[in-house]
Amino acid sequence: MTAWDPAFLATPPLTEGEDRLPPSHKLFALRTLPLGEIKAVGFDMDHTLARYKSPEIDELAFKKAARLLVRDRGYSPWLLEIDFDPDFAVRGLVLDGLRGNLLKLNRERQVVRACHGSRAMTRAEMEAVYGRRRLSTAAKGFRNIDTLFEIPESHLYARLVDGLDQGILKAGNYLELFQDVRWAIDTAHRNGEMKAEILQHRDFFIPHDPQLALALDRLKRSDKKLFLLTNSDWTFTDGVLGHLLNGQDEARPHWLGYFDLVVVSSRKPDFFLETPEPHPLEGHPRCFSGGNAPWLETLLGAQGEEVLYAGDHIYGDVLRSKKNASWRTLLLVPELERELRLLEAKALDLRELYRLETARRRTLRRASVLQDQLRRNRARRHVLGQRLSSEAMQALDQEATQLAASAETLQRRAEVQFLELEDLRRSVEAAFNPTWGPMFRDRDELTRFADQIQQFACAYTGRIGNLYMYDPLSTVYAPLPVLPHERRL
Ligand code: IMP
Ligand code: MG
Repeated sequence: MTAWDPAFLATPPLTEGEDRLPPSHKLFALRTLPLGEIKAVGFDMDHTLARYKSPEIDELAFKKAARLLVRDRGYSPWLLEIDFDPDFAVRGLVLDGLRGNLLKLNRERQVVRACHGSRAMTRAEMEAVYGRRRLSTAAKGFRNIDTLFEIPESHLYARLVDGLDQGILKAGNYLELFQDVRWAIDTAHRNGEMKAEILQHRDFFIPHDPQLALALDRLKRSDKKLFLLTNSDWTFTDGVLGHLLNGQDEARPHWLGYFDLVVVSSRKPDFFLETPEPHPLEGHPRCFSGGNAPWLETLLGAQGEEVLYAGDHIYGDVLRSKKNASWRTLLLVPELERELRLLEAKALDLRELYRLETARRRTLRRASVLQDQLRRNRARRHVLGQRLSSEAMQALDQEATQLAASAETLQRRAEVQFLELEDLRRSVEAAFNPTWGPMFRDRDELTRFADQIQQFACAYTGRIGNLYMYDPLSTVYAPLPVLPHERRL
């Protein structure tokens, strides 16, 4: 290799098998994942092993929480008439409970889109409230919409804010509403009613994935230790996983047969932050309630990067397990299949957007070169002044007029290109979500959500069943990271 050989930065092609997989079946690696070096693979349950039927499950939580607010907190029965709107919120947004707003942040944590209640805020309104300030979403009154469980919470809060603004509801301020909604959603999850209803109608709420049992079986056959680590309690876990896995494989008639260790009521993220005592579950060997990461690693005989954990919660499953336990992480993004379908459907428009943006930048660059020439022309006239002959002066002025006219033409062309670009961009982004656009980007920027994925997930995929297509001893390669100065021209 020569001293600087840019060829070594080119991304090698995917391995043959991976290349043939349709994108919805792929694992997208952000950090190279040597599956062969992994001794233990862990799974979260809700929205990871179990994909719930959406928006039906969200509607259930929305209705239960609204009923609790009316019954126990004296809210107006007006709440019971509101229908859940599945398009209102997407994952990755942030609730601002102090001001009644829902926000989309870019990777600099600046607000790029916002709703007050259920009404979209204008750019001027967003600018007036948030400016270009970097928001700290860990501050009091903010809540990250990081899991699918928080989608109904966002919509319910927005409608309460509408109700307060319209004088239908009585409350001291937006924060009170925020706290009441938090209480109602929390209670709906904890009081057992919602879970009982899901289990009663499990065929409806929890669809089967034929590849799930196959994927777990393939991993187990390659001598990986498999474990379950879920915040759900034993009864719900047993009901959900029994429905998904019992009887799928003659060799493993019961769901427990897939796992070497089971931890329920795990209290993530505290599981990774503190050292609560594990409690063995009576009558169920190898099953525990609670516990902590160092204890689990000892039982598994695997530590740090020898453990791969798959979960849907960017904070509780992925960020904490990577930061505090150095585990490798696989983020489940159930929305990915839809995003991929839309990217495919909009491929021509996206290419056109790229072409337009490149053309606009070229126009602006040319306009700026002409403006620079014009400035120099004027400086020359000023400095040389009286020393120039009248012909030379005239020629200089003529050149200035031409430069000014050409620069003006280019500026106007850039404005037309910008409007064309904006129109197309608006229609492409609205296909993802009319209010929020795509989850992973906004205009040319990555979102806060995409940035967190890049920082903490080793890989991401749409469903656990996709692991079936990967040889558990192979390596899933990430694209080589390249800084702008290393890029081949
Ligand atoms: P996991 O994703 O398998 O770790 O489990 C998530 C568990 O948290 C499920 O049992 C949910 O019902 C529960 N859950 C989600 N949101 C809330 C909440 O706001 N309060 C209490 N439990 C929740
Ligand atoms: Mg989960």
